[in-house]
Amino acid sequence: MSDRREILNSLMQELDLGGGVCSLVNGALRHGAGAAITLEDPYARSELTSYPDCGADLAGEACEAADAAQKTWAQLSAAARGDVMQEIARAVTSQAAPLAQLEALVAGKPIRDARVEVAKVAEMFRYYAGWADKIHGEVIPVPSGHLNYTLREPLGVVFQITPWNAPIFTAGWQIAPAICAGNGVVIKPSELTPMTTVALVRIAEGAGLPPGLVNVLCGLGPTTGQAAIQHPAVRKVIFVGSPETGRRVAMTAAEALKPAVLELGGKSANIVFADANLQHACLGAQAAIFSGAGQSCVAGSRLLVQRSVHAELTQMIAEGMNRITLGDPLDDVTEIGPISNRRQYAHIQSMIANAATGGAAVQTRTDLPKEGYFVPPTLLTGLGNSAEAAQTEIFGPVVTAISFDDEEDAIAIANDTEFGLAGAVWTRDLGRAHRVSAAVRAGTFWINSYKAIHVSSPFGGSLNSGWGRSSGTDALMEYTSPKAIWLDSGEVPKIAFGYVS
Ligand code: NAD
Repeated sequence: MSDRREILNSLMQELDLGGGVCSLVNGALRHGAGAAITLEDPYARSELTSYPDCGADLAGEACEAADAAQKTWAQLSAAARGDVMQEIARAVTSQAAPLAQLEALVAGKPIRDARVEVAKVAEMFRYYAGWADKIHGEVIPVPSGHLNYTLREPLGVVFQITPWNAPIFTAGWQIAPAICAGNGVVIKPSELTPMTTVALVRIAEGAGLPPGLVNVLCGLGPTTGQAAIQHPAVRKVIFVGSPETGRRVAMTAAEALKPAVLELGGKSANIVFADANLQHACLGAQAAIFSGAGQSCVAGSRLLVQRSVHAELTQMIAEGMNRITLGDPLDDVTEIGPISNRRQYAHIQSMIANAATGGAAVQTRTDLPKEGYFVPPTLLTGLGNSAEAAQTEIFGPVVTAISFDDEEDAIAIANDTEFGLAGAVWTRDLGRAHRVSAAVRAGTFWINSYKAIHVSSPFGGSLNSGWGRSSGTDALMEYTSPKAIWLDSGEVPKIAFGYVS
């Protein structure tokens, strides 16, 4: 499989990433000094490359570089920041082809999905470019005769930690609002998929982003990640990943009295009522769980189906599973690629085996590509909502179908989870659609749709799905803090010994 290593090398050259996987600190590609990290091609199951963990020293340099660059960036006019971000959007678009290929190769993501995600990154920079000169505070009518107004100030340096399932998408999703609001950034992508984040920031620097404003650390969480959270220049941590790691990250941040935004996992309920258009619901259910091989935080991993149509809908889904094209992520026709890495593949396999042992009927496919960490689309029936497969995030193309009797029952099952990220309802009854959307605990909820997301709309969850919001203007609130100014314009100061009234 040396040809795939050759593809990697030529993409690295085309994207100006130097001779190996490097961190990007203060505008320069830098080798780490820590333990070796091996990257495996999830389709060929062979080593693609290896690189040294970034380590605490380089992480510290990155935080200091971001701190210095941020001070100049925040002084620029807001319109000038927006202009740079427009240039970044254009530059990402012009390099979309190699970026998508690199993402497909390293993350095992189908190239057609990778192309969409790269286009979304350009869209994110364009969207927030428009917001740069529209961030402002407000005037507040206080009763004391003072003029009281707020400024929305950047935080300083923010540290972002991202997972492997959508690396460049998640990088753009967090970097764009952060710099729009005037912050400096240190970002640590997953050690398994670091290159497209480095490539994105290289491209952004080529388009006018000041060197050092955004720094990328290629390394491990417990070493590189923990060091950056604790660095004094870092004012806030934004974490996207699993609940287990999120807890550790939040605890380290809390010890240093730093706030954290947590975007964690989910176990979202996709609820289908008997009056729904079942053809549409079937397509939606398949997109909800099988696209991206289910490696999506919002995956519709619990399919709740009204009892009278349960057999019909699950039969339709089982038939649809056979029509999905599995294959090489670099191939244009591939709809589902391999699972992104060996650890995740083993986790999904063990979850399916446990479900079978626990009494699930397992419907799946056996005609898999010979190579690669492939898990076929899989439908589990015969389980209750308390089963492990219905309560634990599988993060793979595995859906657990559960029947319900009526609206109340559907809502109770949907909310019987430790998560609160997303969900959907399929029905022709508008009143029911609104009642169910209001009653199900979720940060994002779809009616007769699934997985529609856009940079302009807020995104986030509650409970084990995390706290805080990304996207839209809510992300700008997360990346700024309000400062209240009190002005007394009277000749005789209205100073009270205590509160003003
Ligand atoms: P993970 O928690 O294993 O890793 C996420 C990141 O945390 C990686 O960059 C990793 O290096 C880093 N990390 C690991 N240990 C750390 C430590 N001790 N200190 C600091 N950083 C550390 O998650 P993953 O397996 O990469 O991704 C899958 C998870 O991400 C799933 O649970 C999925 O639902 C979640 N996810 C959530 C969203 C969302 O927006 N809610 C989006 C995508 C993925």
